[in-house]
Amino acid sequence: MEQKFDRYITPMTHDELLAACRRIRHVALDMDGTIYMGSTLFPFTKDFLAMLTANGIGYSFLTNNPTRSIDDYLAKLARLGIEADHDQMYTTAVATIDYIKEKMPDVKTLYVVGTPSMEAEFRAAGFELTEPDAKEMPQCLVVAFDTTLTYPKLCRAAYLASQGIPYIATNPDRVCPTDQPTVLVDCGSLTTCIAHATGRQPDIVIGKPNPDMLSGIMYRHGLKANEIAMCGDRIYTDVAMAQNAGALGVLVLSGETTLDTAVNSDPNPPITARDIAVFGELLLEARQQ
Ligand SMILES: [Mg+2]
Repeated sequence: MEQKFDRYITPMTHDELLAACRRIRHVALDMDGTIYMGSTLFPFTKDFLAMLTANGIGYSFLTNNPTRSIDDYLAKLARLGIEADHDQMYTTAVATIDYIKEKMPDVKTLYVVGTPSMEAEFRAAGFELTEPDAKEMPQCLVVAFDTTLTYPKLCRAAYLASQGIPYIATNPDRVCPTDQPTVLVDCGSLTTCIAHATGRQPDIVIGKPNPDMLSGIMYRHGLKANEIAMCGDRIYTDVAMAQNAGALGVLVLSGETTLDTAVNSDPNPPITARDIAVFGELLLEARQQ
C-alpha cells in the first residue's frame, strides 16, 4: 500500500471528489500536525493560504487546546509569518463561551479548571469566576486542559460535580501531543479522574469531534456544512467532527496519523492527502473544470 500512495486517496470517484471540492468556500484548519509541527511551520502552509485567498476561499484555525488565548495563538501564528484575525481563530475556550451564552443564557458565575489565559478569556466574556475555597455555589462547572492544575482546584471541581450543577468539559483529549519526555495529561483524563471520584461524567464535551465546533464558523460566514472542508491530522477528532457536521473531512498525513491507520479506518476519510498542499491542488483542479 505504501508504495502506491502518491498524493491522496479517496473512496469517491474522481467526479464526486471534484464536485465535493468545487463546493468548498471555507477551509477549517487544525493546527499542530496540519499547518505546523510544534514551532516549525510546514514549508507549504503560506502558499496554501495564499492560494485560498486568491480563489475567494476563506479559512479558520481550530484547536481543541484551550490553554492559550486567541491572542496567544495569533501571536504564535504571527511569529511563524501568518497573519490572521481574531475571528479566524477558534479554540475550545471560545467554543465553550459561545455554548454557555447560547444554551445557558442565565449562567453568570462559573467555577473553571483552566489556565490563567483561559480564565481571562472567560472574564472578558462577562463571566464571574469563583475560587476553590468560595462559600457560594457557582452556576456551572467548566473543566479544561489545565497546565496550572493544583490539588485543591481538582478537589473543588469533583465536589461541584458531586453537587449536580451543570458540568461542561472543553475537550475530550486524554493527552496533548508533545515531543518532550513527559505525558501532558489533558482534559479527558481530568474528567475521567472526576468520574472515578464522583461517578459523574460531564453533561457535554465541547471540542472536536463535537460538530458544534463548526457551527460558529457556519454562523459567522453564512455557510452550509458541505461548503466547509475540515483538514486535520487526526481521524477521531478532525475527520470525525467533519463527518458529524456534514462537512468534507480531509485527513492529512503530515501529523500523527500513518497511512496504514488511514487505510484501515472504518469509514475511510473522504480524502486522505499527503498534506494540505495536495488538498490545495485538488481545490484548484476542481475550480478549473
Ligand atoms: Mg492536530
